[in-house]
Amino acid sequence: MPHQDLRQSERFLTQYTPPKIDGDFTGKHIISVEQFGRRDLQILFDATISIRKRLTQHDRGLLHLTAGRLMATLFYEASTRTDLSFQAAMRHLGGEVVAASNGVQFSSIYKGENLADTVRAVGCYADVIVLRHPDVGSSYEAAYYLDLLRSQVSRQPVVISGGDGVGEHPTQALLDIFTIFDFKHQIDGLNITLVGDLKHGRTVHSLAKLIARYEAQDTTVNFVAPDALQMPRSVIEFLRQKNIAVRETDDLQDVLGETDVIYWTRVQEERFEDPAEYDAIKDRFIMTPPVLAHARPDAILMHPLPRKNEMGTPADHDELDADPRAVYFRQMENGMFVRMALLAKVLGGLWV
Ligand code: ASP
Repeated sequence: MPHQDLRQSERFLTQYTPPKIDGDFTGKHIISVEQFGRRDLQILFDATISIRKRLTQHDRGLLHLTAGRLMATLFYEASTRTDLSFQAAMRHLGGEVVAASNGVQFSSIYKGENLADTVRAVGCYADVIVLRHPDVGSSYEAAYYLDLLRSQVSRQPVVISGGDGVGEHPTQALLDIFTIFDFKHQIDGLNITLVGDLKHGRTVHSLAKLIARYEAQDTTVNFVAPDALQMPRSVIEFLRQKNIAVRETDDLQDVLGETDVIYWTRVQEERFEDPAEYDAIKDRFIMTPPVLAHARPDAILMHPLPRKNEMGTPADHDELDADPRAVYFRQMENGMFVRMALLAKVLGGLWV
């Protein structure tokens, strides 16, 4: 499938400034965790808890917060959880979902249409576009062109990023920080350890930055990665500026015993140009039941999934899944609740 030059999207990182939420989500593109502050996250946590309660306890399927509104999914990269949880979220809220009938590869993208035009075409039909694209800055580019479109059409479409290449995955970070809050009832004072491919993993970039945006107090973030897969310096600097204590190590045992939240990640095979480099590093950090045995009894084990060998064999998966500290299925389910809250807020839903 043809896709545009990386620099084409990347230049929008400086050309377009995403709107700050500042307590009001209505009509705003959601493309970076940098839009959020502590109060915004608290509002989103409250809305998520309220929606979850309403959906699971009272009137399941009877939420009408986005009735009459349309969400389009535009996924240029593979997805299971982000795609399906957004679709489920929109439907549970009473809204509708559209997508290219045979996937984006058989839309006009196949004919060479660029992102700017495709996204505006979709913006003519849908109120919200969930975009996943391999290029860093692609959701910034989409937001820029949708803003231009707004003066020409009747809708005021917004884009929500479902992941920009190795850049950011803001809604994953929102569901991740919510899950930490859900289990630990706070973000302040925690010891949080991110492990694995911190170089290419967009979820860890976004989560680390979001912890800083939350301005968590007395919180330590440990980055555990081999030399070749370290967290970008810019992210580490950002945390330090916000007074988050940062520790970098390539030995999990240095930090595991004091960790409240273990966030495990996959080595992002698709981001390596040389398969030999991937092979050399893919087995460096493997979470197995004997490794988890060294963690605190009240720690939680998170993972954005999908998982491959970084959680051992399928038998290891089964054993880890049965450990009460493994919360990644709850994390996954929270993804839908958080995205419901976000869609309701962005589309101007009422009571949440
Ligand atoms: N699902 C996550 C993402 O899209 C994590 C991963 O793929 O490893 O970034």
